[in-house]
Amino acid sequence: MQALEVEYASYNLGVFLCTTCVGIHRSMGTHISQTRHLRVDRWLDENQIIFMEQHGNEVSNAHYERYLPDCYRRPDGCAPAVLLEQFIRAKYEREEFLEPARQVGYMASTKSGHLMKRGRDAAKFEIRRFELSEATNTLSYYVKEGKHPKQTMSLQAMNVALVPEKVNHPNGMQITYVTHGTIRHIFVYHNDGQTTIDWYMAIRNAKLNYLRVAFPGHSAAELTADLTHDFHLEGWLHKIGPRAGDQYRRRWFTLDDRQLMYHDQPLDPVPKGVISIGEPPEWAVKEGVPPGSKDQGFSFTLKTPERTYLLSAQTAQERTNWMQAITEVLRTPPTPQQRALAGSLHRKQSSGRRILR
Ligand SMILES: [Zn+2]
Repeated sequence: MQALEVEYASYNLGVFLCTTCVGIHRSMGTHISQTRHLRVDRWLDENQIIFMEQHGNEVSNAHYERYLPDCYRRPDGCAPAVLLEQFIRAKYEREEFLEPARQVGYMASTKSGHLMKRGRDAAKFEIRRFELSEATNTLSYYVKEGKHPKQTMSLQAMNVALVPEKVNHPNGMQITYVTHGTIRHIFVYHNDGQTTIDWYMAIRNAKLNYLRVAFPGHSAAELTADLTHDFHLEGWLHKIGPRAGDQYRRRWFTLDDRQLMYHDQPLDPVPKGVISIGEPPEWAVKEGVPPGSKDQGFSFTLKTPERTYLLSAQTAQERTNWMQAITEVLRTPPTPQQRALAGSLHRKQSSGRRILR
């Protein structure tokens, strides 16, 4: 990762490092990586300088990432901490990308293991067995051993996002899937970072292998572009119902790809509503609310062909962030897959009960 300035080097691996990455390198121990500041520390051994000159990140990566699988999400500057740490450990400590046989944790066609899963009604996390199958293209979890799965989720419309703050665990993940036209979320983690990231990559790998069969002419870069995504934006907004007398209510909003979802609480298993964002000019976002409407402050309006949503942020900056994020989605035409997903979703969810709010 090079979001921060490059200030360090690992002189046995031949790579230059930023402040974040050097911390991870040090935590692996000097038998893996020997680091030194580029200016503050003294470079007395000429052989180390020559070694750095002959290597550098490009040359070193060509070696240490020789068998980096297509499904593997290479962390960038905004990647969650667990992803960055596990990538660095996979690369240098476990040397997973030097030897495909070391990648069974995510490259096998089936995977079975345990994760902590948040209960649907009770807000506590409990241990559950999960099974991933490429053959059936599903991820299932079990409450009792030997019984039928409690839930079987199709991988195709599934997303996995790393959400440490939301789950309040450094390895927290949110799995979002679609069943019978309804979006659902489950929240999981494993105390071991490697196990967590193995599941994350295993889901990506199974999705990629499915796409390879479905779209044989496409390149790996095209097929991996949207295996999983982090959310554009999440946070509290106030939203008012469409009828006279409706009041503003606080909702947890998530902009997930083209789906703007709102929930009562951040960890709700089912969104109250899903707005699949379309294209201009029928769709537009504007600062403020129409004349005569109730205004809660820091307000903005989302115009859709069916309804106009009046929303209110908590600060001017948050309003700007939401308007920019939605505008960015509006500017990008939906892909055929995104259109198909939008067409398959019910707009109102709330476990089958129709709520007009
Ligand atoms: Zn870095």
